[in-house]
Amino acid sequence: MNLCNPRVIRELMEEAGIRFRRDLGQNFLVDPNVPEEIADAAADDPSAVILEIGPGIGCLTAALAERYRRVVSVEIDRGLIPVLGKTLSDYRNVTVVNADCMTADLAALLSEAAGGGVPGVDFPVAVAANLPYYITTPILLRLLESGIRFSRITVMVQKEVADRLAAAPGSRDYGAITAVLGYYGTATRRFTVSPGSFLPPPAVSSAVVSIDLYREPAFKPLSEKTFFDTVHAAFEQRRKTLVNALSARFSDLGKEWIAGIVVSCGHPADIRGERLSTGAFVALSDALFRARNRIGTETD
Ligand code: SAM
Repeated sequence: MNLCNPRVIRELMEEAGIRFRRDLGQNFLVDPNVPEEIADAAADDPSAVILEIGPGIGCLTAALAERYRRVVSVEIDRGLIPVLGKTLSDYRNVTVVNADCMTADLAALLSEAAGGGVPGVDFPVAVAANLPYYITTPILLRLLESGIRFSRITVMVQKEVADRLAAAPGSRDYGAITAVLGYYGTATRRFTVSPGSFLPPPAVSSAVVSIDLYREPAFKPLSEKTFFDTVHAAFEQRRKTLVNALSARFSDLGKEWIAGIVVSCGHPADIRGERLSTGAFVALSDALFRARNRIGTETD
């Protein structure tokens, strides 16, 4: 069955009595090369267990199942589950779970599918997905912050998000998500995909990005909470200088002290947050953490 053929997709959905759900970001791939390329990129190790978010009717799932030991596919739309039962019936190494990827216990699902063990420790795990665009950033943050040691996360996202994820400090696209992502790994843009490669076509262009996660933490801030607070404060008020943006969040320290800290970290006093790399944010957050400890306002 050609799962990238628009006629086949329509027939499968008609038989199941379901329609495309725009509210769930359902834009299914109809260019057969794209799932193959995402699957090729997903992991280096065929013994990996792959977590797929949103299998749809299963075109990427099938490409993953042909290459890797096991695939765990989490689909929120109950109406698609019987369709997937049919389209993936040839694959013994696929587990389809009807759940919301934002609340599901992903580590438990991966462990169960692999027959036990800690994912990322006892067996390699990676993520591959054509993500629903209404919830791209929350899903990425949930995966990054899950504590699961994925080797790589390869996802189709809106082109604008791909630009953000792979942006260099100081560039127009650099934002909080770029600095946060840099804490966990490095992003590489692989290729762009035009709206015509999907059914129905989305309003925007798309791109596939791989995030290679650090095996060991690359940064060890004194306080993770202060690091994330510093990054978010810096970008909440993007048009302000870093000193002004931080003064709003760390009001206990006062603007003058914060200016002194920013300068002591080697930056001009009027620098803006988007010029700081992840490492520079870590160093700055350590200095802020120490200052707050000195006056007893640090609660972490
Ligand atoms: N993988 C298929 C493909 O490439 O043709 C479908 C991709 S489509 C862009 C996104 C899929 O994610 C849809 O099947 C949608 O129902 C599913 N989805 C949306 N929100 C979800 C959530 N919170 N948890 C799990 N799946 C979700």
